[in-house]
Amino acid sequence: MLNLYGFTKKQLEEKMISLNQKPFRATQMFEWIYKKNVLSFDEMTNMGNDNVKLIKEIFTLDHLKIQKEQISQDGTRKYLFKLDDDNCIETVLMNYEYGQSVCISTQVGCNMGCAFCASGMHKKIRNLEVYEMVLQVLMVQEQLQNEEDENKRRISHVVIMGIGEPFDNYDNVMNFIQIINDPKGLEIGARHITLSTCGIVPKILEFAHFPLQINLAISLHFPTDELRNKYMPINRRYPLDVLLSSIKSYYKETSRRITFEYILLDQINDSITCAKQLIELIKGINCYVNLIPMNESNGLFKRSSRSKIFFDYLHQNNINCTLRREQGHDIDAACGQLRIKEMQKK
Ligand code: SF4
Repeated sequence: MLNLYGFTKKQLEEKMISLNQKPFRATQMFEWIYKKNVLSFDEMTNMGNDNVKLIKEIFTLDHLKIQKEQISQDGTRKYLFKLDDDNCIETVLMNYEYGQSVCISTQVGCNMGCAFCASGMHKKIRNLEVYEMVLQVLMVQEQLQNEEDENKRRISHVVIMGIGEPFDNYDNVMNFIQIINDPKGLEIGARHITLSTCGIVPKILEFAHFPLQINLAISLHFPTDELRNKYMPINRRYPLDVLLSSIKSYYKETSRRITFEYILLDQINDSITCAKQLIELIKGINCYVNLIPMNESNGLFKRSSRSKIFFDYLHQNNINCTLRREQGHDIDAACGQLRIKEMQKK
């Protein structure tokens, strides 16, 4: 059986044609599952009984299983989803003034091995299927349907920054983006979708030609090859000059501003010297720097005590930057944390 949530509209149209069905059935099905949120084919009342009978034999609307939900005092919610093969992944819902934002996982585990990341401590088991990514967004949205404020019932932003390296699962992630962006699908605006990569250069260049205007964030975190080689193994394959050159090509092609993510680690990358090196590195690039406080709950590194000084220094030197407000501090919000606890239990 094929999970219907794994199909882009175009793929579904092709599938319908191959089944001697009219392609517009794909649009109807999209509307039923993403706009009217039906959970069974029998509720698709405009499809005709024979057609419903046929598609029931081919597709499922199976969901993932919510294994655990943690709710933080600040409203951040973390979900542990159980997949069909018993693997677990995490999804985080964050509530901002501008809307509800979901951070999704793209792989079970991750092969990139970033030293500060709990997810990287366990190797990739497999890529997520498209439907497993779509359902993370849809199922979190389903959990919001009892919210009093109507605006809070809809996921408006998606960040692809959870467990896994999205560019290591490129085709599935691109199909996922098309489904959640589709006006007949979840209709999340391209500019409200952000994909973060640790720096897989060939895919950055390929992504520059992706037809949707998705935001690109680079997990930079260190301003020199020496530090980056030490803490992010990907840098040994694509060192900073190669990475920066791909970012410049990306910008030339898309004219879209890049975000650099920079996690502040105590005594490692939070000195004024590092700030100066960072400024020098990104000079001339239309970018934005997102400084992230280390979440100490994974016990890997210490949170910087100089975050504000680092931030002020960048700011004074005319770098567009923010010091990210930390969310979900009282739950296992560090990426990969909840999944690891579950694995340890097993
Ligand atoms: S930071 Fe991202 S790319 Fe690096 S190990 Fe963690 S999940 Fe993988």
